[in-house]
Amino acid sequence: MRRFFAEKLDTASDVVSLHGDEARHIYTVLRMRPGDEVLIINGEGCECSARITEASDSSVTLEITDRQICSADPTISVTLYQCLPKQGKMEVIIQKCVELGVSRIVPVVSRRCVVKPEGKDTKLIRWQKVAQEAAKQCGRARIPQIGNTESLEKTDLSSYDAVLVAYENEGETSLKSVLRSERKLDNIAVVIGPEGGFEPAEVERMLERGGVAVSLGRRILRTETAGMAMLAQIMYELEN
Ligand code: SAM
Repeated sequence: MRRFFAEKLDTASDVVSLHGDEARHIYTVLRMRPGDEVLIINGEGCECSARITEASDSSVTLEITDRQICSADPTISVTLYQCLPKQGKMEVIIQKCVELGVSRIVPVVSRRCVVKPEGKDTKLIRWQKVAQEAAKQCGRARIPQIGNTESLEKTDLSSYDAVLVAYENEGETSLKSVLRSERKLDNIAVVIGPEGGFEPAEVERMLERGGVAVSLGRRILRTETAGMAMLAQIMYELEN
């Protein structure tokens, strides 16, 4: 069943209205009409079955027929701190990591980032839309948030159960060994370097702040591959 995003989904009311792109998509693109049924999500985990009662190109009104917990969202939280990659890669990273279950993505500037953030986070609106569309497509009711760009030195990594720094020069600790350890892993941060990698001093600094450097194996992954690979392995191992 098709899913649509409602900014305001008043869980007490049995009526919901969609406007703008979502209304146009329903009425004009999909040519759906009163009586047709859809799923509505509010982006924060609430998912409802709903039947269209009125529809036009600018507004669609629906009555809610059922509320359910969305099983597609993970029960653990993984925040991806992604060092800004070269042009055009961030959207693919966002799309694939949302499908893989990421909860939040924070773009990060490190010393070897080629791309420097523009003044205002102009891309943020586009990136958030990519996250919303990917969440709808893969059946999630929770839409991952894209944070404002931060500098690697200044990120606050103190609130996580584990901060996993993907470091290809790490010779001892594998991601697998951390995931199979006894430590609590409900709220994880993952840090991925840019195309040029981390400076050793940056890794040292993250370890001083409680991070754990982990190897993802014997091959060097592209920056756009590494986050996806880590998420896939984390979700597999923690059965999410
Ligand atoms: N030093 C790399 C090289 O020699 O090409 C450049 C960095 S790599 C392209 C981009 C990022 O992906 C790294 O900073 C790291 O975060 C992650 N990464 C890639 N391969 C990895 C591996 N085998 N183990 C851990 N992290 C890896």
